[in-house]
Amino acid sequence: MSSVSTAVMWFRRDLRMADNPALVEAARADRVVALFVDDAHLREPSGANRRWFLAGCLAELHDRTGGALVVRRDEPERAVRDVAREVGAEVVCCADDAGPYGTRRDDAVRAALREDDVDLQTVGTPYAVSPGTLRTKGGTPFKVFTPFSRAWRAHGWDEPVDAPRGVRWVEGVRSDGLPEAPAVTADLPTPGEAAGRRRLAAFLDGDVRRYADDRDRPGADGTSRLSPYLKWGCVHPRQALARLGRGAGPETFATELAWRDFYADVLLHEPQSARQGLDERMAGMELDTGPEADARLAAWCEGRTGVPIVDAGMRQLVGAGWVHNRVRMIVASYLVKDLHIDWTRGARFFMEHLVDGDLASNQHGWQWVAGTGTDAAPYFRVFNPVAQSERFDPDGTYIRRWVPELADVPGKAIHDPTRLDGDLFAATAPDYPRPIVDHAMERDEALRRWRAATGRA
Ligand SMILES: Cc1cc2nc3c(=O)[nH]c(=O)nc-3n(C[C@H](O)[C@H](O)[C@H](O)COP(=O)(O)OP(=O)(O)OC[C@H]3O[C@@H](n4cnc5c(N)ncnc54)[C@H](O)[C@@H]3O)c2cc1C
Repeated sequence: MSSVSTAVMWFRRDLRMADNPALVEAARADRVVALFVDDAHLREPSGANRRWFLAGCLAELHDRTGGALVVRRDEPERAVRDVAREVGAEVVCCADDAGPYGTRRDDAVRAALREDDVDLQTVGTPYAVSPGTLRTKGGTPFKVFTPFSRAWRAHGWDEPVDAPRGVRWVEGVRSDGLPEAPAVTADLPTPGEAAGRRRLAAFLDGDVRRYADDRDRPGADGTSRLSPYLKWGCVHPRQALARLGRGAGPETFATELAWRDFYADVLLHEPQSARQGLDERMAGMELDTGPEADARLAAWCEGRTGVPIVDAGMRQLVGAGWVHNRVRMIVASYLVKDLHIDWTRGARFFMEHLVDGDLASNQHGWQWVAGTGTDAAPYFRVFNPVAQSERFDPDGTYIRRWVPELADVPGKAIHDPTRLDGDLFAATAPDYPRPIVDHAMERDEALRRWRAATGRA
């Protein structure tokens, strides 16, 4: 591409300068236009937390390009074609996007550019191993995680590349201006590449050593908190993998990054899994709907179910735009198996609040819990939220942090305040609700419905 005079670098979910192969490719041109398309199809379904984080990432990118970032608020095929025309670009570079919407959008943009003889060149993806790369020995896509993760490690990944130096950004191209950060109430992490790299460095220098032990303890803050930075490409997984080192902590952490790649691969091959269960046998499950189910869903959303670990998780979701992985599983299981509500309703509420909300990881995380997805936990394994709480938050640190009305509940009763006699419950946690359902009864009910739907004993 050495003869190219002008290239457009189209930033999407790769909002960084370092280790950005598409940017390296674009920077071979004499002049580079930095472009972001503020696309209503992606903006409108995003909650305020993700739009706030994105606005911060773009503001940083604008600074890093010396104020040359062009933002267009338009249909992508028109926006990209117009900018390419206006600057006389010969090529548009971007990272590939294998999601269902991204694929359709890029096909449309490619076709629009072709009319002007401009190439859409995709270089790299937001994943360590790009979706669609790995296949079973029989040549089919993987449906089970463990063999996928083995193939993933055997395949390996590229070394990170440095940020290109001396890029000549084109200035003065018309821009609709940076998107405004919406008002948010959640306490969100600092957006952008610099903050992401600080987070990564702090994790690799510290918590990663204890990760294998601490990652399941929501009170310990033992995970990387990198998910929003990975979601927006402020950090690429390669940058973590290249510096991981050896030992149980690093090995376990790499496996979690493999889950991210696995779910992106599943979404590529089964795009309908974003909206519906992959396991068709589960489609006939009887679900609760109507006013009573809506009231229970509202109690779940507000963190007022009367089950402390569930309420703590839902309040963390709303208060921090992020939830610890173990607790995501607990609250999701409670919605599906204790309240018998369709997983897609819970997934939607998650997507509204999560700052790391990601179609592949969220929908498949939900399907894993609901037993409807690829490599799902068997449906008959129903989480007991109180037992989970006793095991993973033994001294109730996490619950006390997010449910302050329970701060004075003594000892093990923090996991289930109904263990206190009625007067003591009323005296120590007067504002905390009684459980809205009985777990043992709802567990039996969930299994009855599952047997009826699948015909299994
Ligand atoms: C119901 C449900 C919904 C979820 N929704 C999302 C979502 O919208 N976006 C999202 O990024 N993750 C989602 N996850 C996965 C996981 O909970 C988060 O990635 C993790 O909690 C983020 O925190 P962390 O960065 O500290 O994770 P760490 O434990 O430090 O893990 C490092 C990275 O590995 C990846 N990862 C870890 N666990 C998983 C997993 N189970 N599936 C896919 N990737 C994983 C993430 O990119 C994460 O940042 C969901 C899980 C469940 C059970």
